[in-house]
This record gives sequence, structure tokens and C-alpha cells, in this order.
Amino acid sequence: LVSRKKQPENTVVELKGEQVGAGSLSYVFGPCAVEGYEQVAAVAASVKEKGLKLLRGGAFKPRTSPYDFQGLGIEGLQILKKVADEYDLAVISEIVNPADLEQAVDYIDVVQIGARNMQNFELLKAAGDAGKPVLLKRGLSATIQEFINAAEYIMSRGNKNIMLCERGIRTYEKATRNTLDISAVPILKQETHLPVFVDVTHSTGRRDLLLPTAKAAIAVGADGVMAEVHPDPAVALSDSAQQMDIPTFDSFFKEIKNVENRLGQ
Ligand code: PEP
Ligand code: MN
Repeated sequence: LVSRKKQPENTVVELKGEQVGAGSLSYVFGPCAVEGYEQVAAVAASVKEKGLKLLRGGAFKPRTSPYDFQGLGIEGLQILKKVADEYDLAVISEIVNPADLEQAVDYIDVVQIGARNMQNFELLKAAGDAGKPVLLKRGLSATIQEFINAAEYIMSRGNKNIMLCERGIRTYEKATRNTLDISAVPILKQETHLPVFVDVTHSTGRRDLLLPTAKAAIAVGADGVMAEVHPDPAVALSDSAQQMDIPTFDSFFKEIKNVENRLGQ
């Protein structure tokens, strides 16, 4: 169902009037984790000021260590919803447990399925049944075909609103947190009709690489870019080393718009 051979025209996912996948670029910015109202609202204000519509924030955090901050859970989603309503934004948040989906869909606009759950087939089926758009991230060690099959699980339940997100894969290279598989973008665009995002934060794990990789994503034909923004990354409860503060976010976005304009000419 997700194959370009079955449907030659692009799938377009509509979020707050924004047509994701229709040709212009979409951006998802927001903190790694929801830590509190003020923190999320500060980022939302900056997103809104840029004329953007999409805000991210994790409430259920799939952390590598059980001793790290696990997220605020439903309370985090309630904060996101309050901020989203105040700033008229669509919110994207990861759900890790199918049992939480029913309650979660009252608070969020897009269900994110994280890299660690890309092959959690029960979660994929439940997300397919949830009636909300889904942003599906590529698994840490998933091939492109496995990634496409995971999207197929969701669509096979009748949910057509799926966005794919390349977020880097695990290789022997240690210079970056993961290795951004940039060629996955044009391959996914050829093989499927779904919008394709690139998450520059989790693929690189390095603040100094966010801009060059975002430029690469745009140049190679991605429909959107995701990156993490925190009002004070130094005190962030997760991903402190790679979130942008708001002034850095402002200059990042300005530079990205320049690239967008240059490529569009
Ligand atoms: C995230 O986007 O919050 C996240 C945890 O990313 P990933 O699942 O790609 O590691
Ligand atoms: Mn993160």
C-alpha cells in the first residue's frame, strides 16, 4: 500500500492547514522531552514566530538507561496540548505503549513511533487503528525495506496518514551518535509515496552538524526536517549536548530558509 507503484502521487498529510509532503518544506522543532509548561511554551513561541505549525516534545521517553529521566507521561501530553492550543500548533509526541494510545490521542495531533519501536508490531497495528497521523522513525539497525514494511503495517490497518523519518543508523563510526543515511531519503521517495523527514538531532548527536545535515536533507529532496530545541540545553533532562538554544535556533532557521530559497530558484 505504501509503494509508489501502487500510488504514483504523493501522500499529503494535513496538519493545522499545513500540507506535509505537497512540495514545500515542513519543520518539526521542539524539546527532546517535555519538562514543564514554561519550557515548552518558550519553544512554542519561537516556532510560532517563524510561522511554523509543528511542535514536538517527548512525554514517554524510551531511554537507554532505566536511571535516566523517563518523561512526564500523560502529564507531559497535557502540557503539550495546553501549549498547542495557546499557540495554535499541531503537536507530535512519541507513544511507546499501545495501551497509552487511546488516552494519548486526545492530547496529540501526530503519534510518533520511535526508532526503538519501529518493529514493535503491536504498537504499529495500534497506531494504524488510532485514527491519527503517524510519524514513523527508522529503527537503529533497520534496513530501508524493513522500514517500509513497518509503514505497511500501519497502512494495512487503514491509516493513510504516515510520515517517514530517517534518524540515522548504527554503524562502526563513532564521530557521530548515529550515521545519517542520506541516500535513504531519495530511495524512500522513489519506493514510497509518503512524506520523508530527516531528524538531524538524533542522527548526528552533535549541535555543530545540525545545519550542514539539514542543508543536505533539503538538497536531497526531504519533505521536512526535525530538530530539537530547548530554552536552556545545559540543564535539559535529556539530549543536553545536541539541542539548540533559542538564539541558535533562530540563526539555524534563517540559514535554512536561505538554502531553501537558493534551491527553489
Ligand atoms: C525522539 O525523537 O525523541 C527520539 C527518541 O528519537 P529516536 O526514536 O529516533 O531515537
Ligand atoms: Mn532527543
